[in-house]
Amino acid sequence: MNRREFMGALAMGWGTAYVLGACKEKDEPNPDFAQKAGKVAVVGAGIAGLHLAKRLGASGVDVVVYEKLNRIGGRILTDKALNAGKPLELGAEFVHGHKSDWYKALNDAAIALDEPDENYYHYYLGQNYTANAAANHPDLSRAIALAENLENLSGSGSVKAAANLPDSLDYILDGLIGADYGADIERLGAQEMAEAERLWTAGERDFRITVGMTDALNLLYADVISKVQTQSAVSKIAYSASGVTLTVNGADQNFDRVFVTTPLGTLKRNDIVFLPQLPDDKRAVINGIGMGAGMKVVYRFQQRFWPQDMTLWVGGRHAPLFWVSGDFALTALVTGKYADDFNQRLNANASVILPALDDLDAAFSGAASAQFKDQYVQNWTGFGGAYSYPTPGFGSEARKTLAEPIENRVFFAGEATHPDGHFATVHGARETADFAFEKLKQVV
Ligand SMILES: Cc1cc2nc3c(=O)[nH]c(=O)nc-3n(C[C@H](O)[C@H](O)[C@H](O)COP(=O)(O)OP(=O)(O)OC[C@H]3O[C@@H](n4cnc5c(N)ncnc54)[C@H](O)[C@@H]3O)c2cc1C
Repeated sequence: MNRREFMGALAMGWGTAYVLGACKEKDEPNPDFAQKAGKVAVVGAGIAGLHLAKRLGASGVDVVVYEKLNRIGGRILTDKALNAGKPLELGAEFVHGHKSDWYKALNDAAIALDEPDENYYHYYLGQNYTANAAANHPDLSRAIALAENLENLSGSGSVKAAANLPDSLDYILDGLIGADYGADIERLGAQEMAEAERLWTAGERDFRITVGMTDALNLLYADVISKVQTQSAVSKIAYSASGVTLTVNGADQNFDRVFVTTPLGTLKRNDIVFLPQLPDDKRAVINGIGMGAGMKVVYRFQQRFWPQDMTLWVGGRHAPLFWVSGDFALTALVTGKYADDFNQRLNANASVILPALDDLDAAFSGAASAQFKDQYVQNWTGFGGAYSYPTPGFGSEARKTLAEPIENRVFFAGEATHPDGHFATVHGARETADFAFEKLKQVV
């Protein structure tokens, strides 16, 4: 959101100067390339893995995708039961920007998009403030100005340190900035955030896919779904200059090359053992780039108790960012230290209802508890977290190192490998597949 706003201002200044990002020519069967590329495995059937399979397959390359879950999509997951048959996104929700190849692909396929209103309410020191009231509040206006100008952050420490604002604003800043970036302001690196903001080129508008992200994915990647082997977990990748051997559900499979698109958090956990182990510089950036616990919690109510014009609410002490989902639900995006706390509660079988309801009750005179119906938790911690984020010392250069192929046999893609500010997004993950594909083309 913040990245959008910054680039939106630039885009307006530049008028029509922006050119839609590198549009790919349609891939044609290329027997010479296919033969040189050899037999290729892709690990993970999120958007990066599916897009790779599509491009490799269209070029005539013999490709198989191994996906550990029993579904495709990874962090794209649309539910149609929680909101009376209407799509509700449990993972990626917004198409960020209108200048990406992803946006163009959706448009080309005539997949309809809705552009939601963005109207924040801010809960601060016991009171709700509309966007206008917040803009005139001495503290809140400083927090909002910071969130809208992240490209100006500097310093080698955290966003919290660089912000230098009263601690009482932490919940507001974690709602406006921390959750958007998958963490909290104590964990995010200041100059690395500024760098990401400056690199953002996708544009300022946000959309929801009317039929839901999962349906869009099924439509756009229908031709490669037959190449995906679900419930196929890769536990080991042994590589050498002459090829790679993957251990899939305990059995060894030989390939010429592999593309690893698994989430950064699973690389941190060493879910896949690499033999020989990954180079030191790559292991350092896997440890250093941020990715931690993350979840969406959908709270459903009997009736709406929030103002009609409210679409987002920030400032809760336990879950700093909520948005309105459908007529009677609020979704909390819980990341960083707040997600750690929720996970502790979930592990202890304690409620994650009460703390967040307490916040809403305090802000809306007890109406949240009175109207509460049920909750649904979509916990992404099993993926190693929601999405990657910049930490002090680990910005764009670190992501380039993460994306570097090894021996032209092991290639890396997936959102965390995006070097140009588009990590943590669907369009960015899709672009990393293009980047990795181009790297293969350069070396065979
Ligand atoms: C709560 C939430 C909200 C988000 N909101 C937005 C948003 O509004 N807009 C936006 O653009 N982006 C959003 N994102 C980010 C976006 O979802 C991701 O950046 C993108 O989907 C990542 O795609 P990927 O292909 O890189 O990885 P993934 O989708 O994670 O795909 C990787 C796949 O690898 C599989 N895998 C893992 N380990 C193994 C193994 N050992 N063997 C085989 N398979 C394995 C996983 O099961 C997974 O399917 C959100 C993400 C979350 C979690």
